[in-house]
Amino acid sequence: MLATSSTPPHTLTLRGWFRLIAVGLVLIVLVGVAQLVNLEWAKFEQSRRAQQAVQRLRVALVAAEMVSRERGPTNGLLGEATTGGTPELLERLTRARQRTDEAFLAYRQVLDDDPQASRHQDIRREAGELVQALQQARTRIDLLIQRPGAQRSAADIRDGVQAMIGLVPRLAPAITAFAHEAQQADAELATPVWGARLAAELREYAGQLGSLFTPALSRHQPFTEGETAAIDQVKGRIDQLHHLLGLRMAATDGAPEGGQPGGAVRAAQAAMAQRYFGNAARLLGEVERAGRTHGRYGLTPAEFAARYVPDMDAIIELRDALLSEAEQRSIDAHERSRRSLAWLAGLTSALMALVLVMLLLIRQRVVQPLMQAAEALHAMGRGDLSPALPEPRAHDEVAAIIGGIEALRQQSRVRGDLERERDRLIETLREQSSTDFLTGLPNRRAFFEAAEAEMARARRHGFGVVLLLLDVDHFKRVNDQLGHTAGDLALVAVAGVLHQGMRQGDLAARLGGEEFVALLSHCSPEAGMGFAERLREAIQAEAIDVGAGLPALHLTVSIGLADSAHHGHDLDALVARADQAMYRAKHGGRNRIEWAGRPT
Ligand code: GH3
Ligand code: MG
Ligand code: MG
Repeated sequence: MLATSSTPPHTLTLRGWFRLIAVGLVLIVLVGVAQLVNLEWAKFEQSRRAQQAVQRLRVALVAAEMVSRERGPTNGLLGEATTGGTPELLERLTRARQRTDEAFLAYRQVLDDDPQASRHQDIRREAGELVQALQQARTRIDLLIQRPGAQRSAADIRDGVQAMIGLVPRLAPAITAFAHEAQQADAELATPVWGARLAAELREYAGQLGSLFTPALSRHQPFTEGETAAIDQVKGRIDQLHHLLGLRMAATDGAPEGGQPGGAVRAAQAAMAQRYFGNAARLLGEVERAGRTHGRYGLTPAEFAARYVPDMDAIIELRDALLSEAEQRSIDAHERSRRSLAWLAGLTSALMALVLVMLLLIRQRVVQPLMQAAEALHAMGRGDLSPALPEPRAHDEVAAIIGGIEALRQQSRVRGDLERERDRLIETLREQSSTDFLTGLPNRRAFFEAAEAEMARARRHGFGVVLLLLDVDHFKRVNDQLGHTAGDLALVAVAGVLHQGMRQGDLAARLGGEEFVALLSHCSPEAGMGFAERLREAIQAEAIDVGAGLPALHLTVSIGLADSAHHGHDLDALVARADQAMYRAKHGGRNRIEWAGRPT
């Protein structure tokens, strides 16, 4: 049934295929998810880097701002006529220096905390040198302050102020580097970080511009030529920075890359326009007009500073608004990535669970039942109907297959029962049949039935009978030399000769094997002998065709003969006597007839 004549081209089983597909599917899901996680993780890390870069940028900008702010009381003290300065100014200076020191401490701390410290080695070294340069500038300024006002030359004061001014640009490379890092980590931060950097620079030049007015204000005289030139230069730089800042903020309106400035930035920008480029610019305009003409300012340096400095803070507020926005954006981006990663983790788990449940279902519902069904079919092929079939779980195709196999098995069972029943019936029929299936003569059972009846009649009517027993000589050789089929044909031929010689009322039968019997009614021993002799000769003369191109076969028989006249009307006794006589014929050389003789 299932036995295959040829071997299948490959030996991977359904279970093997299933495992292969399962592993493949899981791998595909894992690789896809790994790609996504990798991408999201990179964004997550980048937003963190951006956040740190903005933080470093803020601290560096604050450090630069504090150095600028320290110049206020420094310039005030240098311009003071009193030796050692007024206590109020000295206190302001001390506070300003404290704030600068704190800012630098924070700056260096941030640099030291950087996990990739090697990246900022130059910046770190420069920060150290900057702190030293700051101390040197302060010492020089302190010495100048200790001198009486008359002993401080304009050149001394200019040098002292310049030493402080010169410190700020040394922070520029660090500030640029941090702004660049932030932008690289997140392109959306370009506007706020570069805007903040421009605002910080703007504040620096605004401070310098204020300082440039102070000497003329304290002298109550017009600007010197040098002062005019310096003022023009710084004003030019301020205009330039103001313009650049405006461009940077405006450029983003249409460009998606830099991101839109938020409401707080817009407000700070408006406040700066109103306070610094409005109020403070007007004040500067008035002082400048006086300085370029008559030199009557109507304003002390302290009054000027009190009006000018607060409006400069608007620039710092814009810087801070931009930094806060940059920070907020990087925090938002970080949070978005974190949420994406969490989503991804959840999604991956759900996907994996789904794949596993699907695989499990396929295994339970398809693979395992099919494997079990295949085993059951194999067993059926071998005639073994015992293996259990899987329990169908749903009304699906697999259930149909299982149902089909069950039906097949049921049919096999019924057919097996039928075959056994048929064999049994054949056996019974054979037993009950009266005809020998090979020769067509009556069989032993039929012979004895009929012969008993005939013997009874003979006894009643007192007529004689003769019984012959025939056995084919050396018949085993026929089988051995020519085959069983030839043997069968030979037996049929012998039976034919026997049958032909019979008269009406005589009985002939095959007793079994190559042994035959004949009962001749109303027959004398002499007539019986004559009949036996004719029979022996007829068989010997028969050229038996055994087919298969073999030459004709000749057989002989040995015959034992008993008769009722001498041996009585008992069938069993007649058979026994004839059998003994037949054995004598065998021993006597075969192909002969022996009479049972007279009873002794
Ligand atoms: P003997 O002359 O002593 O009778 O020798 P034998 O070979 O005829 O006697 P033996 O009893 O040794 O062998 C009888 C053989 O007859 C054995 C058996 O194979 C064969 N035989 C019995 N019935 C059949 C049959 O129906 N068909 C065939 N072809 N052979 C049969
Ligand atoms: Mg025999
Ligand atoms: Mg024989």
